[in-house]
Amino acid sequence: MGTHQGTDAQLRDLVFVVEDDDDVARTICDTLRKFEYETEHFRRGGELLRRVTRKKPSVCIIDLGLPDLDGLDVLRNLHEMGVATVVVTGRGDVTDRVLGLELGADDYVVKPFEPRELVARIASVLRRLQRSSSVGSGSAGHFSGWTFDVDALSLTSPTGKTIGLSRAEAQLLEVLARANNRVLSRDFLLDAVGAASTFDRTIDVRVSRLRQKLERDPQNPEIIRTVYGSGYLFASSVQWTRRGGLPR
Ligand code: CA
Repeated sequence: MGTHQGTDAQLRDLVFVVEDDDDVARTICDTLRKFEYETEHFRRGGELLRRVTRKKPSVCIIDLGLPDLDGLDVLRNLHEMGVATVVVTGRGDVTDRVLGLELGADDYVVKPFEPRELVARIASVLRRLQRSSSVGSGSAGHFSGWTFDVDALSLTSPTGKTIGLSRAEAQLLEVLARANNRVLSRDFLLDAVGAASTFDRTIDVRVSRLRQKLERDPQNPEIIRTVYGSGYLFASSVQWTRRGGLPR
């Protein structure tokens, strides 16, 4: 696992690379660093997923053939957590690629590839993400009788009452809801919502506002639970639908 950090590391896009072939990983990471990306390399899918709950990368590069987990499962997990992905597949198998894209991969390259081609794909994914940040994705989440309309910044209660959300609340709710029963740390959430502050309480304050709106008893939350010492967990299962038919 190698971390490359420059003095202006916080201005760079962080790319996580999960690849069990060290030679391929080295080529990818070296090329990315030449183009001013910061990289972290993982040999196993499990290592990557654990790291992603602590630190959110701008994009993950995923080799589908991993020694521990099925690359497609890793992809599905990352998609649920709202992490952008570029798939590297050595299988050259159309079915895998189609599956990859259906599971939410943002792009893919087939081995052997020109490292610069991969860099170009990453740059284009990042540009696309900047244009359509998560609010504006046209999605609606349905959980415990509630409907969360991401674009409209609104919640509709089980009794049909509409409650407005601030953009910041909607962003946080979307990240929590997409993580689907996974505990997310405050650091991860701060990163994910792009909060300017690195002050832990930013997330706690937003969670508490969301609970006032969502929970039957905000003191005894059933939907957004606190996991002591770890972070927060969205405890309802969520079904996502698309309002406008836009990707993601
Ligand atoms: Ca492999």
